[in-house]
Amino acid sequence: MTDTFHQVPERRTVLIAPAWPYANGPRHIGHVVGFAVPGDVLARFERLRGSRVLMASGTDEHGTPITYEADKNGIPPREFADRNNALIVDDLVRLGMTYDIFTRTTTANHYRVTQDLFLKLYEGGYLIEKKQLGAFDAATGRTLPDRYIEGKCPICGYPEARGDQCDNCGNQLDPIDLINPHQRGSDAPVEFRDTEHFFFDLPAFGEQLKAWIEEHDDWRPNVRKYSLEFVRNLKPRAITRDLDWGVPVPLPGWEDNPSKKIYVWFDAVTRRGRSGGRTPRAGTTTRWAKTTSPSTP
Ligand SMILES: [Zn+2]
Repeated sequence: MTDTFHQVPERRTVLIAPAWPYANGPRHIGHVVGFAVPGDVLARFERLRGSRVLMASGTDEHGTPITYEADKNGIPPREFADRNNALIVDDLVRLGMTYDIFTRTTTANHYRVTQDLFLKLYEGGYLIEKKQLGAFDAATGRTLPDRYIEGKCPICGYPEARGDQCDNCGNQLDPIDLINPHQRGSDAPVEFRDTEHFFFDLPAFGEQLKAWIEEHDDWRPNVRKYSLEFVRNLKPRAITRDLDWGVPVPLPGWEDNPSKKIYVWFDAVTRRGRSGGRTPRAGTTTRWAKTTSPSTP
C-alpha cells in the first residue's frame, strides 16, 4: 500500500519519550493508556512512514513513596523496585508495546549522568547551599514527605488535613502549620529540624526562559500565558533530600553521607537525555525487555 498524500520527504529521526512509570507498585490499565499507548501508537506510525524512531523510557525508582512502600512490605527499596520493575516490564511486553529502550533510574549510567549534571550546575554557581526546616520520623530519622503528615487544619479545623493541603477547605499548607502533626495512618510523632540542602537557582534562568517562551507564538495562548506566569515567579528549589535511597551527592562531605541523596525530581529530569544517549536495540518486544536488567550499564 502506498500512501501518496503523506510521504515523508526525507528520513526523519524521531525521539519518542513517554512518561516513566513509577515503580512503587504495578501499573494498571488506566496508567498504561496514559504513559505507554499514545507513544506506542506514534512510534508505530512513524516507523511505517519510514522515520528512524527511538522510543525510550524506563521505570522511575527513587523517592520516598518507594522507601515508604518497601518498609510496609518489610523489604529493602532495591528489592521492592526490582520486583515492580519486573512486573511492569512483563505487562508492557505482553501488551505488545514497542519500546526501543526500556531501562531504569537505578542503573550505574543513570547515576553517572545525574551526578555529572549536578556537578556542572555546582561549578557554574547555580546551586545554593542553605538550611531549611525538614520533617522527620523521630524513630528512623528518615525524612517525611508533606503528604505523609496529617494533623488538624489551622484554618478550618478539619482533623485530617495533610501536610501539603487541606482537602476540606482546599487551602495549601505547610506541615509545620498543622495542629498536632503526626504521621499518616498512625500517631507516630513528626520531628521538625533544620537540615542543610542544595537549592537549584531557578530564578537565574528566569529571563532566558521568558525570552524563549515569548518566541513561541505557535503555542496555545493559555499554555504560553501560564508558562510566562510560571517563570515570572520562579524560586530556588531543593534538589537534595534527607533520604538513604537515591543518587549520592557527588561532593566531599556529602558523597559518603548515607542520609543525603539527590532529590528524585532532579534525577528524574535527567532521564530522557540519558536513555536517549544509549545505542538503541531493535524495536521488538522480546529484545527490548533484555535491556531492563539491573546490571545494564
Ligand atoms: Zn482546612
